[in-house]
Amino acid sequence: MRERLHMEREFQILLREFDNPQDAKKAAAAKAAAAKAAAQAKAARAKELAAAQKLAKELQPFFKQVLSRQIKTGGAKITYGPAIGGKVTLAVVADGDFEKASEAEAKRLAAQLQKKALKFTPDVVQRKLIAFYKAQGESLPSRLSVVDEKTRLTPDEDAAVFSIARMLTIALAKKEAADVDGFYSPSTKTISLRESSITAGVIAHEMTHAYAHPNWSDFIYLMQVRGMKETDKLNEGMTSRLSGLVIDAWFAKQSGGTMPSTGYGPDYIAIADDFIKDIGQEAAFTAFFGGFVDFTDNDKPEDFLLIGRAKKKWKWKWR
Ligand SMILES: [Zn+2]
Repeated sequence: MRERLHMEREFQILLREFDNPQDAKKAAAAKAAAAKAAAQAKAARAKELAAAQKLAKELQPFFKQVLSRQIKTGGAKITYGPAIGGKVTLAVVADGDFEKASEAEAKRLAAQLQKKALKFTPDVVQRKLIAFYKAQGESLPSRLSVVDEKTRLTPDEDAAVFSIARMLTIALAKKEAADVDGFYSPSTKTISLRESSITAGVIAHEMTHAYAHPNWSDFIYLMQVRGMKETDKLNEGMTSRLSGLVIDAWFAKQSGGTMPSTGYGPDYIAIADDFIKDIGQEAAFTAFFGGFVDFTDNDKPEDFLLIGRAKKKWKWKWR
């Protein structure tokens, strides 16, 4: 009897632990506090977004002013490219979500790999397909005897040619996400900013990417797959250099503060300056913003580049 009572007591105690109204209250309070904190964080991000949008709007006329050229003396000035100074879409990403956002962008880029490669490097794709079929003891199917933009690959062929490059694209983005303050997505046309590091410099840098002509990124991509060196340095160096010009003009109108950085270090800027010195400012800027880059020779485009409106001949110099 005694023993039973004891057990019953214990049971009751357990039940009380299980269904303690105090605990339920505590849990509800914790849940409410978490919801409140999330709402506050969301409100803070909305505020930061509004501030970033204000900054971007403030920078727009400086882009137009600095990145324009005089067509004829006394005439109107026109920008080096059609997008310069236009409205941009911004998003503020919480630090904890930033890696996921970078990865999602890398996946979007990776998804476009086949289309880009078929357009710009069909010879490389065909070579890989030949190797793929050879490994199975087969010769290349006749429908692949010509590979171009219209070629349709089977899922197996696509995987054989692109899966490693896709994987590396995503892995690299994940690895670099920690050092990145923002990125521009050409597919969503949105600038994503890391919440804790929003500055006028970061915004100007990403706006410059957004204003770059799609031909410029195709040119950089083509040189990359052709095995040229310093492709990233030219692209990021030009972006840092060009946004730096805008920030200089903007900062001159500010009352004090510290000059915000527009990105990459002196080795990047040096590559950009080398490019500008070789072909001239006009050609370099219209290549970046106006898309005036021709790769006419399909066999060795890096040796027969035509840059700027005047189609200045230039060879890719970093090999
Ligand atoms: Zn950049």
